[in-house]
Amino acid sequence: MNVRNVLLGALLFTLVGAECGAARPDEPEPSKALYNTFSDEDEMAMGREAAKDVEKKYKILADPALESYLEGVGRRVAVASRRPKLAYEFHFVDSADVNAFSLPGGYVYVDRGLIDFVATESELAGVIAHEVGHVVGYHSMNDVARRWLVDRLVYEGQKAGLMSDQQIHDMIEHYGGTALLFVNRKFNREEENEADLLGLYNTERAGWDPQGLVDFLNRLTEFGADRDIVKLLLRRHPLPEERVETLKNELQEHPPRAGLARNSAAFRAAREKLKRLPPSPPPPAE
Ligand SMILES: [Zn+2]
Repeated sequence: MNVRNVLLGALLFTLVGAECGAARPDEPEPSKALYNTFSDEDEMAMGREAAKDVEKKYKILADPALESYLEGVGRRVAVASRRPKLAYEFHFVDSADVNAFSLPGGYVYVDRGLIDFVATESELAGVIAHEVGHVVGYHSMNDVARRWLVDRLVYEGQKAGLMSDQQIHDMIEHYGGTALLFVNRKFNREEENEADLLGLYNTERAGWDPQGLVDFLNRLTEFGADRDIVKLLLRRHPLPEERVETLKNELQEHPPRAGLARNSAAFRAAREKLKRLPPSPPPPAE
């Protein structure tokens, strides 16, 4: 590649990057708490440590075609998010649950059951964008930083940003472990609302119809909260009905642009392929 191509590439990246990352006027500003002194590098290191725990505990679907499909959808969402430069990774958990969760630094896990449950790719993209929204909004990291602040007062001299992987691991354990701190974390209403709105605009910037997230929440409501496969999701998130109202109002005030995608042949192929795989194992004990 010659210098001219490199320069052209850089210019294109800057233009596309600026276009992708630009917020709509009503999109919430990701709120890094003042006491959150962790850098993006710290956060990604923490996510990497937590991901090791997750991948020990849950069965990750090792199907290259399915992984690459999910990675493709996830990456489109990630580069159009407000924090596009994190260490994003997207994996399927081999579980029949309708669930998805994210770890700090951009590690996103989608339960296989979610693909069965959604009707369109825009619903899937909406759920992924909501999880990315929790990362973009520093929700878990602000929580870790709050606990860390207290401990720093106790262990004077230790600073965020100077920790080894072992220290990060010990810190996660000290605060209750990956499952409690990140995977099963219950988000408060403010965080949930922020992740929904960030997710809504993120989905649209990535080229999917943001109505997908609303459709997913409506489907969840109709399905019934007492069904086993949605219990985990609903334990961590407030009632879908309220979230639907907020999102509907937002879409009414700021109608999405025309021509956004709802489905793709790749989505249908991934779904068919998942159906043909052997059934998921029962979930691990909590
Ligand atoms: Zn959430």
